[in-house]
Amino acid sequence: MSKANLKDLDLNEIMDFLAGLGVEGYRASQLCQWVFQKGVTNFNDMTNIPMELRQKLDAVCSLGGMDILSKQVSRRDGTIKYLFGLPDGVAVEGVLMRHSYGNSACVSTQAGCRMGCRFCASTIDGMVRNLTSGEMYDQVLAIQRDVGDRVSHLVLMGSGEPLDNYHQTLRFIAKVSAPYGLNISLRHITLSTCGIVPGIKRLANEGLPITLAVSLHAPNDAIRNSLMPINRKYPLSELIPACREYINLTGRRVTFEYSLIKGINDGIEQAWELAALLKNILCHVNLIPVNPVKEREYQKTDRDRVIAFQKELERHGINATVRKEMGSDIDAACGQLRRRKSDSCRSSPAMPSKVQLKR
Ligand code: SAH
Repeated sequence: MSKANLKDLDLNEIMDFLAGLGVEGYRASQLCQWVFQKGVTNFNDMTNIPMELRQKLDAVCSLGGMDILSKQVSRRDGTIKYLFGLPDGVAVEGVLMRHSYGNSACVSTQAGCRMGCRFCASTIDGMVRNLTSGEMYDQVLAIQRDVGDRVSHLVLMGSGEPLDNYHQTLRFIAKVSAPYGLNISLRHITLSTCGIVPGIKRLANEGLPITLAVSLHAPNDAIRNSLMPINRKYPLSELIPACREYINLTGRRVTFEYSLIKGINDGIEQAWELAALLKNILCHVNLIPVNPVKEREYQKTDRDRVIAFQKELERHGINATVRKEMGSDIDAACGQLRRRKSDSCRSSPAMPSKVQLKR
């Protein structure tokens, strides 16, 4: 059996764990500092923990850790795209974006994804597995270590659907925002979902001041059904009221993400329809020209049509911005970095999305 990863636990669980080993309670906060703040990968580095306890811990538990398999750095804006390797050979992506207000990390919550959105590369090989809270946490630590700077903002917009891995995602958010963790403000955390309605309702009741982003991408069910299979399960008549419920319970503005796809969802009539759909909702629309994925036929909307779409929304009183395209010179749509890697290191046709970890 594999050893328990301390990073998958929280402070209380680490206290219980230590108590089970007959260790004094105050050691838990010392240990948490090493695990969740300094992010050491070796018990021997824990200099204020007695050698005997270090050895005892080493025998019964692990510290996680995330290898950087590859990285691409944008010359244009310093954005870094990472491919991380997990001990079982699974690879996930992460991104660091540098903004005037701080460093924002884009974190994956699952390896692969089972949501099947037509324009998204992460889902092409389906779902590999859920990530644990410690594995999400390790992505942030690996980025901080790599850039030698603090991550102040998080977006859960890497591979995977956070609400399809609800429990681990919420545990991650709790730890990364805790004073014993990285103390990242909950207001600086954005969770993005393709629209799992029960998950949105559950999240609304957690009382967390995080930002909810909903990947809408269509103003009506016909277009959304053709792009996002989840819409057949939770159509707009259920999704939009769930967003309203989220706003009512949290007082937070919801972000709607809308990837503009040439000839599919980018016409002026779709802008009107979207404005009508979102009328009187405390929200913000983030327009993103779709990032073409080589396995799919979708093309980016031209710049002038993006602006026309935005203007039309604003004319109807809907607040809309065009998302700054970070790292466009190294651009790989969601999941593409991982796919490129797996194309070259594909080991088994049964597990085509696995990448062998080079040690
Ligand atoms: N599963 C979550 C979060 C992961 S994807 C969700 O669906 O929201 C993060 C965002 O990138 C989502 O809005 C997703 O729809 C969008 N996205 C995925 N592939 C894209 C592409 N090729 N071009 C533009 N946006 C894309």
